[in-house]
Amino acid sequence: MGVKENLLDLNSTLPANVVLVAVSKTKPVEVVQEAYHAGQRIFGENKIQEMVEKYEAMPKDINWHMIGHIQTNKVKYMASFVDLVHGVDSLKVLEEINRQAQKHQRIIDCLLQVHIAEEETKFGLAKDELDLLLASDSYLKLKNIKVKGLMGMATFTENKEQIRKEFTALKTVYDQHKINNPNFSTLSMGMSGDYKIAIECGSTMVRIGSSIFGDRQ
Ligand SMILES: *Cc1c(COP(=O)(O)O)cnc(C)c1O
Repeated sequence: MGVKENLLDLNSTLPANVVLVAVSKTKPVEVVQEAYHAGQRIFGENKIQEMVEKYEAMPKDINWHMIGHIQTNKVKYMASFVDLVHGVDSLKVLEEINRQAQKHQRIIDCLLQVHIAEEETKFGLAKDELDLLLASDSYLKLKNIKVKGLMGMATFTENKEQIRKEFTALKTVYDQHKINNPNFSTLSMGMSGDYKIAIECGSTMVRIGSSIFGDRQ
């Protein structure tokens, strides 16, 4: 099946309140254009440089999401156009996004990445680190970023109960913080392999690559 059919299929199964981020990383512009022509307007990339190249090559009514780990020295390249930064996992990164947003006189929406997986390799804040960050004066001072919610990645496993447990834990943390954060509207969890479970657990935004574009090299 082609990109267009995959998108149609996917959109017919997603609940109306769940936003689809089409993860186009490693895919050439021509392939991303196919998704654009099928109506998709939100794309996710995990490398800032690659996102900048696609931003420059593609129509300007696309919302670009940075879903990968953020290197502070590269934030400046995306600050003029990025729509949502999913993978923020330190005050330092948040401060740099704020600084660059200020230069462009805009407010950049961010999600804080929370570590929910068993694997040590996945990035993200521990729950207590998240609590501290959101309560800190340094965070409250930042006027050019808006934290819209949380993002997380489950363990890469066949064990559905484990995935469910991890997503449920993230939803609980999200709900706790949502009480005091009127800006919280987005819980980004779920990829090609686990988005159905993520939605059952309360996801409002799924990041899907291979189910739309096919396997990556
Ligand atoms: C690559 C990636 C995805 C999409 O993965 P698929 O399994 O291809 O759907 C989602 N989220 C992040 C953070 C990614 O890096």
